[in-house]
Amino acid sequence: MRILLVEDEVRLAAEVARFLRDSGMAVDLAAEGIDALHLAQTEPYDAIVLDLGLPGMDGLSVLKTLRGRSVNTAVLILTARDRFADKAAGFRAGADDYLTKPFQLEELLLRLQALVRRAAGHARPEIRIGPIALDTTTGVATLDEMPVRLTALERRVLTYLMLHPGRTISRTELSEHIYENDQDRDFNSLEVIVSRLRKKFGRTRIETSRGEGYRLTDETT
Ligand code: CA
Repeated sequence: MRILLVEDEVRLAAEVARFLRDSGMAVDLAAEGIDALHLAQTEPYDAIVLDLGLPGMDGLSVLKTLRGRSVNTAVLILTARDRFADKAAGFRAGADDYLTKPFQLEELLLRLQALVRRAAGHARPEIRIGPIALDTTTGVATLDEMPVRLTALERRVLTYLMLHPGRTISRTELSEHIYENDQDRDFNSLEVIVSRLRKKFGRTRIETSRGEGYRLTDETT
């Protein structure tokens, strides 16, 4: 999962980003509305956390502009504005969720996970593909009910493949959802991560379509 965090309070942004990264997400930061607008239109985020009070272009204008340009990414507004009128304006501008400051980091995480899961068409927090199960709220993966230890990047790759089973995911798409903006997007290291996942979950589980990408399958052969 890759998140765009739009927040102009530097310390809060750093704290939230650290927590989300520790929870397995890739996080890009924007401190100004205009930067958020640019990033949200050029990078395929799984969700956007949007502050309303921003220097220059405010969060509500960012959201309205994005929705006007058919950017459908899930948006959670995170703001100190707790009046009903502000909440209503947020939802009417196209927000998917609204959380007021002060807030618990864990609640933000749970809400984001639910948004991303639902956007991918899943209602249950646990996703099962054949003998593989992934609890999307804890990141715990099991094979035949036995826990499997994963690195942060392995978990991100597995999560993305589990959210989109049966579909061939191109290397470009996969790397766009697991790496942050300033990280090297290297297909060779992606191949290494996938081969480690194959060792842990079975060689045939993750198919490679030559030149196309990867597909998680529940076929047993
Ligand atoms: Ca602010």
